[in-house]
Amino acid sequence: MKPVGVVPFGEVDAIVLKTVAAHILGYLQIATEVAPPMEFPGYAYDNKRFQYDAGAILKAFESVSFHDFTKIIGILDADLFVPILTYVFGEARQGGKCALISLHRLKRNLDGSEASPPVLFERVAKVALHELGHLYNLIHCENERCLMHFSGGIRDLDKAPPYFCRYCSVYLRDALSPAKNDDDKTHDGGNG
Ligand SMILES: [Zn+2]
Ligand SMILES: [Zn+2]
Repeated sequence: MKPVGVVPFGEVDAIVLKTVAAHILGYLQIATEVAPPMEFPGYAYDNKRFQYDAGAILKAFESVSFHDFTKIIGILDADLFVPILTYVFGEARQGGKCALISLHRLKRNLDGSEASPPVLFERVAKVALHELGHLYNLIHCENERCLMHFSGGIRDLDKAPPYFCRYCSVYLRDALSPAKNDDDKTHDGGNG
């Protein structure tokens, strides 16, 4: 099977990329490679919201053919939004090939202080596994002790366990062999 790709948009700490790759390999036993950086998506900046349009970036991202990767996760340090939500941590199309993760809000704690590196790494790893779950067709899970459950803000994300429930794990194992395709978009994080 082709590896999962992790690609930075613009400048992203190498250790963040390696952490995501290590978690995907360690947790799902899928080979994961860090790909060369893509250009920072300045075109997606919204002058009214002072944020970046996640849908526009995802659309451009999906138009690139990444023949060497089975799925690809783009990571960027920009505050992402979708029209119906204040912000998103991640954005992926259900059963799609590409997912996006924004580090912007993961870097801050609720009190506004800067997250320590271990806290940031855990958050980004959780969002990456969650988005990858969507790429492998998982939907949000009702079980609070499941990585596919979270949908709110940092508090929810920090409370979420770093693993999938039994049901989602079984589904994921199953989906990992033949990739299926679907067309629903899924947003994560934010309150609309
Ligand atoms: Zn679950
Ligand atoms: Zn989700």
